[in-house]
Amino acid sequence: MNEYIVDLFEFARTGRVAEGDVQLAALPRMVTEVPAEVSEAGRTQSVFHWRAEGSEKQVLRADGSPTVAQFLTLTVEGPMWLECQRCLTPYQEPLDSETTFEIVRDDAAAEARPLDEDELEALVGSKHFDLRELVEEELLLALPIVPKHEVCPSVHDSLATGSDGLAEPAPEPEEEDKPSPFAALAALKRSPDKDGK
Ligand SMILES: [Zn+2]
Repeated sequence: MNEYIVDLFEFARTGRVAEGDVQLAALPRMVTEVPAEVSEAGRTQSVFHWRAEGSEKQVLRADGSPTVAQFLTLTVEGPMWLECQRCLTPYQEPLDSETTFEIVRDDAAAEARPLDEDELEALVGSKHFDLRELVEEELLLALPIVPKHEVCPSVHDSLATGSDGLAEPAPEPEEEDKPSPFAALAALKRSPDKDGK
């Protein structure tokens, strides 16, 4: 049984609370954001805490009629490995976000909502809702657009020693395996000339 799968409608109706820790390594889309220099140990030690709270309350529709609406508040927090855009070394950025969603039945209901900035974000519920996917979604949204140290260390000691979860930068075999699309394009463009000569 996957503890992350819940009946979201029931979760909200009964005001349930669930919380837990999830490893960075278990979040595939977050893992791709981690700089290559961060070692396996560094990745494994990164853990995010999450908490989901369901609720239900009476609200007024745009036309003034009362209705019962369901909500989910999700908080996520924890340190994330990112590459500083100023000094290009990996560092840990503390992520912290809290979002309240209004749970809706389906995509049509989500689209029917007014596009008002004051409105809560719509979340399409389901009886087999995957909380982990939402946790990952929220963490991705919490990533800074331009990650950087508050103050860059002039010499990053841990990079040299490999401590602090950081490994020596490995040589990159990537260029051999994958020619860049531009190189491939250039080759294509060149070939007619070759034939002509
Ligand atoms: Zn920096």
